[in-house]
Amino acid sequence: MATVEIADLRKSFGAFPVVHGVSMDFKDGEFIILVGPSGCGKSTLLRMIAGLEDVTSGTISIDGRVVNTLSPKERNIAMVFQNYALYPQMTVAQNLGFSLELSKVPKAEIAAKVNESAEILGLTPLLDRKPSQLSGGQRQRVAMGRAIVRDPQVFLFDEPLSNLDANLRVKMRAEIKALHQRLGSTIVYVTHDQIEAMTMADRIVVLRSGNVEQIGTPMELFDYPKNMFVAGFLGSPAMNFLPGKLAADGSATLVLSNGERVALARRPEVGDDGGIVLGVRPQDISLDPEDGTAATVKVIEPTGADTHVLVEIAGQEVTCVLDARLDMKPGDHIRLSFRTPAAHFFDAETEARLE
Ligand code: ATP
Repeated sequence: MATVEIADLRKSFGAFPVVHGVSMDFKDGEFIILVGPSGCGKSTLLRMIAGLEDVTSGTISIDGRVVNTLSPKERNIAMVFQNYALYPQMTVAQNLGFSLELSKVPKAEIAAKVNESAEILGLTPLLDRKPSQLSGGQRQRVAMGRAIVRDPQVFLFDEPLSNLDANLRVKMRAEIKALHQRLGSTIVYVTHDQIEAMTMADRIVVLRSGNVEQIGTPMELFDYPKNMFVAGFLGSPAMNFLPGKLAADGSATLVLSNGERVALARRPEVGDDGGIVLGVRPQDISLDPEDGTAATVKVIEPTGADTHVLVEIAGQEVTCVLDARLDMKPGDHIRLSFRTPAAHFFDAETEARLE
């Protein structure tokens, strides 16, 4: 187990900068998830920690030791990739033990470590099979087993579940979380799936275009997103944003572009023109035929447990999560109210959170 410290880390490919001086400290045993849209630099950051990619400037320390110039092997980390990278001609047992064999670990010790990791991951009955005889989830477990046998100080995962189907992904999510609890190891895990981040991480690092937007626990980021980007990234369906102006009479009222008024739980502090964006999660919207804001139904998507309804409010598309059994069709005019105590306010210009 180990701490990981990243200080003012930069990376350019040729003249093209992709990581712009990021700093973050991971505690011993923490499960850290790096999230962000495609191309934001997640994998590059992970590969720099692994030693698979050179650092342009800045430092990476593992357990207080700067590792910038150390080879991947010397860093005592193990990386699990999305494509598993198993050796097809080897059995599961041989795949698990291969890196130890390369390191000339005695045979008896290899066997013990292989058996132990197979036991942890439920692979014992599969040790004599070849990768082609395994399911996707089993292959993923072998890939994790190969990391475990080496007793690394830090585990790095690069989108390990992205090749699995939705059901298996949910199952493996729980398995990885249980594995972390059992091993207590430091994990740095890359995904672009915000649900993986919310469900597994101790802390989430949200990246955008090579910069850190926010670092915090899943609930900190969910409840107090620093800006519209973080707010829109976490939560499913995504948060809705309604631009408007605060009422000129000084009341806690938002006036939408069509003049429709939305009562707010409080009036946020903003500059002179009163331009703000109201952020409302789809789960915080409900039908309110008497006092609600006018909306036109566009698309209805029943999920079984509830119904996702896409509506238009003052020219903006808004998604709401409503009851499972609704008598509604596209084109209907409905009225909706927002649970505004749970709403977020953002500066229309800077997109930063307003208190
Ligand atoms: P994804 O979620 O799509 O995997 P990511 O957040 O992991 O994306 P990276 O793979 O880290 O993003 O890439 C960050 C940026 O660096 C991208 O613009 C990518 O095109 C660029 N990049 C990555 N590797 C190289 C390389 N070897 N040479 C040049 N540019 C690269």
